[in-house]
Amino acid sequence: VSPVGRRAAPPRNAVEILATGDELVRGRGSDTNFAALARALGEEGFAVRGGRLVGDDLDDLVAALRAAAARARVVVMSGGLGPTRDDLTREALARLAGAPLVEDAPCLRRLRALWRRRGLAMPPSNAVQALLPRGAVALRNRVGSAPGILLGLRGGARVFALPGPPRELLPMLEAEVLPRLRRLPGRVPSRTLHAGVFGMFESALGERLADLMDRDAAVKVGTAVKDGVITVSVHGEGPAARRAPAVHREVLARLGPAVFAADRSGLPEAALAALRRARATCAFAESCTGGLAAARLTEVPGASAALLGGAVTYADAEKERALGVPRALLRVHGAVSGPVAEAMASGIRERTGATLAVSVTGVAGPDGGSARKPVGLVWFGMAGPGGVRTVERRFTGDRAFVRALAANTALDLLRRAAEALRAGAPAG
Ligand code: ATP
Ligand code: MG
Repeated sequence: VSPVGRRAAPPRNAVEILATGDELVRGRGSDTNFAALARALGEEGFAVRGGRLVGDDLDDLVAALRAAAARARVVVMSGGLGPTRDDLTREALARLAGAPLVEDAPCLRRLRALWRRRGLAMPPSNAVQALLPRGAVALRNRVGSAPGILLGLRGGARVFALPGPPRELLPMLEAEVLPRLRRLPGRVPSRTLHAGVFGMFESALGERLADLMDRDAAVKVGTAVKDGVITVSVHGEGPAARRAPAVHREVLARLGPAVFAADRSGLPEAALAALRRARATCAFAESCTGGLAAARLTEVPGASAALLGGAVTYADAEKERALGVPRALLRVHGAVSGPVAEAMASGIRERTGATLAVSVTGVAGPDGGSARKPVGLVWFGMAGPGGVRTVERRFTGDRAFVRALAANTALDLLRRAAEALRAGAPAG
C-alpha cells in the first residue's frame, strides 16, 4: 500500500494516449488514432492505461498532458501540430516543459524543401512547424509537413506528439515512435501474431479454439470481425512471448483452409497472392456489389498483373448483352439465381479469357426482397478451367453489410479457387 498522499510510480510499461481537436470533441470526426495507437503499443508490450480527447484549448491541453504524464511513463498524443491558430500542441508542450519554443534549423530546411517540391513558396505561417520546445527532438514526417515532437519531462515521462491525419501518424508511429519505445527499459518482451480467416462464423471459430482462447491462458488468443473477415491475434508477454509462435501454428492448423493469411494482410492481398502463385488471371461479373469486389482487389498494388477486367451488370438486358446470359434463364429463374450466377461467371470468363471468373448476383436491400428471395440472398458463380460451380449465401444485415460481405465472399472464392488450381485440383 502506498503512503497516503503519495502516488505509486506508474508501471514502467504504462502508456497514456491523448488526442486533440475540436472536431473530435464535437463528434464531427472520430478518433481512429486511439485504436491504431492502442493496438500497436499493446502489441509491443506496453500497457495502455487510458486515453482522452481534448478540444483546441491551451489550458485544457496542458492539464491533460500533465495528468497523463503523472499516470504513465509514455504519453502518445495526436493532432494540433499544423500551422493554424487552432493547432496548440507545440505551445502546450513548451508550457508543460517550462521551455521556450526555438526554431529547429534542420526542420525549417526540410519544410522549405517540401514546399519547393510542391513548386510553391512556403506560406510564412508554416514556419511555426519548425518550432520545438527547447530540448525536444523532432520526429521525422515523410508524408506531411509537420514534424512530430518528442519531449522528455523532468519527472521521467516522455511525450510523443504526432500529427492528427492517420496517413501521417501511422507511418511515424512505425518509423519514429516504436523503435524508440523498444529501447526503453522496463518494456515487457512481447510477441503478437495474426491470422486472417474467412468463411466461418466467429462462434464456430471460438468453439474450435475454445481451449486456446481460455482467458487464463498465458498466451492470449483473441478475435475481431469486420465484414465477415475474422482477424485472430495471438499475443504473449513476458515468458509467454516465446510460446506465441507455437500457439499461432496450432491456430492455423485448426482453422485449415478458412485461413487466408498467416499475418495481418487482408483478403484482397491474399486473393492476389494466390492468383500470382497459380499464374492465373481473373475477371468479375458483378450485380449487387456494383464493382466492389474488383475495386477491393485493385486496392492492392500490382493487381493489374492478375485482373483482366469485369462487368457491372444490373439490368437483365445488360446481363444478356455484356455476359451472354440466355434470356430464358433470366425469365425462368430470375436474375438472383444459381443458373444466372453460373451463366454470368462463364460469360465473363469467355469474354475476357481469364483463368478464373467470379460472378455475384443478389438482393442487397432494403427493398426488392420476396419470400423466396429475401434481402441478403446472394448467388455466386465461380468459373475456371475445371468448369463452373455456384454458391448460395444468405446474409443478414443492411445494404452496406450485405454488399461488403458479398464482395469479400467473391474474393475468398477466388482465393480458394486459385489455391486449388495450384494444388492441381479442378477449379471451383
Ligand atoms: P494538420 O497539419 O493537418 O492540421 P494536425 O497535426 O494539426 O495536422 P489536426 O489539425 O488535429 O492535426 O487534425 C487534422 C486532421 O487529421 C483532422 O481534420 C482529422 O481528419 C484527422 N485527425 C485528427 N485527429 C484524429 C484522430 N484522433 N483520429 C483520426 N483522425 C484524426
Ligand atoms: Mg491542424
